[in-house]
Amino acid sequence: GTPAGYRILNEADLRDTLAATPAVAERLGGPADRWTITEVGDGNLNLVFIVKGAAGGLAVKQALPYVRLVGESWPLPLSRAHYEHLALTQQGRLAPGLVPAIVHHDHALALTAMELLEPHIIMRKGLVAGTVYPGFVGHITTFMARTLFFSSDLALPAAEKKEAIASFAGNHALCKITEDLIFTDPYRVAEQNRWTSPWLDATAAEIRADLDLHVAISRLKLKFLSSAEALIHGDLHTGSIMVTDTETKVIDPEFAFYGPMGFDVGAVIANLLMAYFASAGHERAPGDRAAFEGWVLSTVDRVWTEFADKFVALWRGEAAGDAYPVSLFPGEPGAARLEIERQAYMARLFQDAVGFTAAKIIRRILGLAHNIDFELIEDPKQRATCEARSLRLARTLMLETGSFTSIAAVTKAARESR
Ligand code: ADP
Ligand code: MG
Ligand code: MG
Ligand code: MG
Repeated sequence: GTPAGYRILNEADLRDTLAATPAVAERLGGPADRWTITEVGDGNLNLVFIVKGAAGGLAVKQALPYVRLVGESWPLPLSRAHYEHLALTQQGRLAPGLVPAIVHHDHALALTAMELLEPHIIMRKGLVAGTVYPGFVGHITTFMARTLFFSSDLALPAAEKKEAIASFAGNHALCKITEDLIFTDPYRVAEQNRWTSPWLDATAAEIRADLDLHVAISRLKLKFLSSAEALIHGDLHTGSIMVTDTETKVIDPEFAFYGPMGFDVGAVIANLLMAYFASAGHERAPGDRAAFEGWVLSTVDRVWTEFADKFVALWRGEAAGDAYPVSLFPGEPGAARLEIERQAYMARLFQDAVGFTAAKIIRRILGLAHNIDFELIEDPKQRATCEARSLRLARTLMLETGSFTSIAAVTKAARESR
């Protein structure tokens, strides 16, 4: 059973519930019976309603006690709405303007009313259409650098950091989805796996038999399980980012917990790389997306370099945590040595990001949840060609992670995989 006070809201019930909430009713404005309500949830897990009144609009998200994509046979705790609300609150504080503002949260209903993002669209849809977003790199690297740095041991005193880890530790059911769907199932026979058959049958079988790859994905899984480095978004793909020409907003942090920073960075890079490999399948005329494809790869480059620059700048200027005590790095020699150590730290984080990039690509092609980047390529043979190129790069990134010492090496390999 579900907790007291919870019920799945239909339109009439939602209208009454919102009308009884002054902050919400005021924001929407006018008589409640004139509000328009449209369910738009296109995600895998939850309900999302767009509600509009005389004065303004809201997006209202309600968690279901099961996985929407699968149904009641796959239960999932409502508490994910609490963790999403907690993460949105903290991200809004750490990275102002880069997540939707919260207007109301109802714990019993597992419901959050937030700023309606309009005319923003889901970035993945824009990428399929071949749209470039010049402001994206600046925004997403600020989001990642600030949310990751300020929740890490570089910024927080140890006691505060440990309390913060504890505050998200209960979100383990969402973590388990990642542990299974990303780090395990694509590498074994699993009922929910699917791929573009028969073209990818042989590759899928190779990946299920490749013990070197199984070691590599297991190391990444261990890192995901055990490295409570920072508050990560946990599902930072291009379907969790809404954009206009000038704005970028990160949504849907229900998978948030204290995990490895490279998981978020790798998610962004992986999804850009998949947009790049899928692009050939969306051409109307040969080469008509070349400028877009060039922009995507330069964006991959800049996502890492600008993220790293911003993260290191925060470390230089705002370190208040218990890691790297300043008393151990006195004077000029201490400062110089610490600066070298910052570069070593970023090199290690880059390795993590490369590994997680590979993991995120493989799961989207061989696992349960697929991307419209590939799915909207109608001709399955052409889709399989794009997917096979992505898989080839992903396997190399995962098996030879250490040979990728710069982001330029990754984008070069991507170019050569096409
Ligand atoms: P899920 O957790 O089920 O994936 P999301 O939070 O990703 O749910 O939301 C599903 C969809 O609802 C998004 O893809 C987007 O189209 C829409 N949406 C979510 N939040 C907002 C918002 N604040 N403003 C406008 N649309 C939104
Ligand atoms: Mg979503
Ligand atoms: Mg999702
Ligand atoms: Mg979600």
